[in-house]
Amino acid sequence: MANTGYNPFENAQTQFDGVAEKIGLDADMREFLRQPMKEFHFTIPVKMDDGTTKTFKGYRIRHNDARGPGKGGIRFHPEETADTVRALSMWMTWKCAVADIPLGGGKGGVVCDPREMSMGEQERLCRGYARALYNNIGPFCDVPAPDVMTTGQHMLWILDEYETLAGARFPGMITGKPVGMGGSMGRTEATGYGVIYTLKELLKCEKIPVCDTSASFQGFGNVAEYAARMYSQLGGKVAAISCWNQKDKTAYTFKKSGGCDVEELAAIKDKFGSIDTDKARSLGYEISDGDNWLKEDVDILVPCALENQITPAVFGKISKKVKVICEGANGPTTPDCDPLIKDAGIIMLPDFLCNAGGVTCSYFEQVQCNMNYFWDRAEVLEKLEYKMTSAFRAVYDLAKAQNVYMRDAAYMIAIRRVAEAVEMRGWV
Ligand code: GLU
Repeated sequence: MANTGYNPFENAQTQFDGVAEKIGLDADMREFLRQPMKEFHFTIPVKMDDGTTKTFKGYRIRHNDARGPGKGGIRFHPEETADTVRALSMWMTWKCAVADIPLGGGKGGVVCDPREMSMGEQERLCRGYARALYNNIGPFCDVPAPDVMTTGQHMLWILDEYETLAGARFPGMITGKPVGMGGSMGRTEATGYGVIYTLKELLKCEKIPVCDTSASFQGFGNVAEYAARMYSQLGGKVAAISCWNQKDKTAYTFKKSGGCDVEELAAIKDKFGSIDTDKARSLGYEISDGDNWLKEDVDILVPCALENQITPAVFGKISKKVKVICEGANGPTTPDCDPLIKDAGIIMLPDFLCNAGGVTCSYFEQVQCNMNYFWDRAEVLEKLEYKMTSAFRAVYDLAKAQNVYMRDAAYMIAIRRVAEAVEMRGWV
């Protein structure tokens, strides 16, 4: 999706092929796992407010459901492509497997720009999406959730359309719903908090006190905002935040002496999620080029935006001080950059482990919906931290024991779990 010349699906396959080779995965299993099981491509005609009808392109792709129903978000983005959705659905399979939750991998997307659409147009788009997929999504086959530029409100419209067609209530058909409408406490902050739960555990293992570290964040959407908030609550210094500016159609990096104040910046986000530059300046922020987040002299880089951001072309700009890359986004690092990161001795907290907090909380949401009994926020977050920490420890211990890069260790665990389920079902 991010136009950098890299194809995310090829990246996902390259990562998979490399680890499949390392663990000696059977050739037939490799062939089966390196591509999605099901793909739905469709059009959604939407009546626009000006009386015209616009046709949007939609996708839902299920990579693998051997361990449970497909699971994964729906993105609304003008640069969405089938290959982006394929890659993301594959990463969801590994994410659910490494987090050890009984779900498979799926992803959806619509080529659109919700920032330029009214709420009514977005509602009609969501309802059209649900109608197009009615027979192929649901609590027992494929469960959507929010992702880039979709929210609980979008989920609720999709749910409402689905339930209207079904003539019954199926709260577990979608997650990320608003609290009080079948949503779970803690779901909004779960992905960002999960990123920091894994980072906290890594720093503990490496005997680095969080309060002695500084970090630079790319993005200030749902993931980055909550990640930065929890990181600073733990005592870390948020040295810089890079955020997309919808008005100027470019990104800017925000810095302030003494560190960014996350609450202060969150309070001056506009309706597009961009940080208001004038207000930031008046609060004493220095605003520079969007790429500068990567050049900060920090201990930790936290990319929380789109794919293909950390490439060999920009690797040389990363400070020698950086010790950890903590991938809040899906696919922010290209496979050709991994060897450079590894050789530089930078610890990689890989995306499908590090950002699994969202889907783990989605799983809790489904469990609560099925029981029709909802936990309080503290209980959700305690369970989330336990799941994230356990998943991290398994990957970290394997990486240490076998002296492998953490992304490879995470893949080794995930691929083995999925391959075992596929084999036990007798598919391959
Ligand atoms: N979109 C999120 C992700 O990429 C959450 C998926 C979910 O909750 O199903 O992990």
